[in-house]
Amino acid sequence: MNTPASHASAFAQDTQIVHLGRDPDAYHGIVNPPVYHASTFIFNSVAQLLETRRDRASGAFEQFTYGREGTPTTRALEDAVTQLEGGYRAVVTSCGLGAICAALTAFLSTGDHLLIVDSLYGPVRQFCDEFLKKYGVEVTYYDPLIGADIAHLVQPNTKVIYLESPCSLTFEMTDVPAITAVAKARGIRTILDNTWASPLCFKPLAHGVDVSIHAATKYISGHSDLMLGIAVCNEASFIPVKKTASGSGYCGGPDDVYMALRGLRTLGLRIPRHQETATTIAKWLQTRPEVSRVMYPALPDDPGHAIWKRDFTGASGLFGAVLQPCSDTQFAAMLDHLELFRMGYSWGGYESLVVPTYPATLRSARPWQEKGPALRLHAGLEDPDDLIRDLERGFARLAAAA
Ligand SMILES: *Cc1c(COP(=O)(O)O)cnc(C)c1O
Repeated sequence: MNTPASHASAFAQDTQIVHLGRDPDAYHGIVNPPVYHASTFIFNSVAQLLETRRDRASGAFEQFTYGREGTPTTRALEDAVTQLEGGYRAVVTSCGLGAICAALTAFLSTGDHLLIVDSLYGPVRQFCDEFLKKYGVEVTYYDPLIGADIAHLVQPNTKVIYLESPCSLTFEMTDVPAITAVAKARGIRTILDNTWASPLCFKPLAHGVDVSIHAATKYISGHSDLMLGIAVCNEASFIPVKKTASGSGYCGGPDDVYMALRGLRTLGLRIPRHQETATTIAKWLQTRPEVSRVMYPALPDDPGHAIWKRDFTGASGLFGAVLQPCSDTQFAAMLDHLELFRMGYSWGGYESLVVPTYPATLRSARPWQEKGPALRLHAGLEDPDDLIRDLERGFARLAAAA
């Protein structure tokens, strides 16, 4: 219905972002596709109703039958992100976690085994430990640096390998092609959380992944005002993921879908700016005596840099830092009064954010050895020098506190 795939892929990525998923000629020349608020679609005949039932039963999901399964607004966002990532089709969900849970439950049953990366996004770990295990799925956490040695952890009942690269909070890079090669040789599905890279900087499906997930809550929407997820699937994965997402009620709301599509249009400008500012701040932090380590794969001396450079075409603005050991009072004195880096969860919006992180509580396969407190920073679109001065005043407060 929107820009034909064959034509769109002839354009550079920045051009595609502007044009994918919209068709002004179909909507009175209006630039943005309209928001469809719909639960109900009217059928003109029993024959038409039966046709939509056949469409659904066959797994085609081409026709619109009910709001939970999507509207033309949903389809526009799905088409745009699918084409950016070279997928077959995508499924929009209520939030990023919903897309992850739908993809995991699409491929896992009682008695199956899941290999999942240690130091992944915390709530996914909770879903595995509190829900998947309750339903009889065996879960093993693997070291993000394991590479092809993941073959040693594969069991006869391993059905899914789940990846996130770089990892949440600690930003280790995983060798994605090494792991997908092991999975493919054994018929194991792979799911990768690609939120950090956004659809611009890494193409999971081109590296052998079956399902690429985005918390569209973050960079795709870009304005910290909505929750949405998207799972980009290859052809073999689309039907199971779509059936699970719609069968579990993980649908996104129409206004949120519309705003995510609007946010997507400026992603090509925002991501390079986030990367530039994050790099400037990360390099400055490396010079500070208060900082023991910066974790950002785009830095040349980061342990994950070689993999990042090989597989990624850019970086986003999210990175980690570990401070030299200091007292809780000193750490709080720094964070509590930052003016620009406000403290809050989520990231990917236009504004800078910081949160203290506690990586030791979220890993089992690769223990966290650092002694000092850890931070996660999101470099927003503010002036980089203002951001550095904000952190500099924070370090002065840290030094002055007992
Ligand atoms: C935020 C986040 C999610 C979850 O997305 P929500 O939309 O908040 O549910 C998943 N993965 C990563 C890496 C995230 O940062």
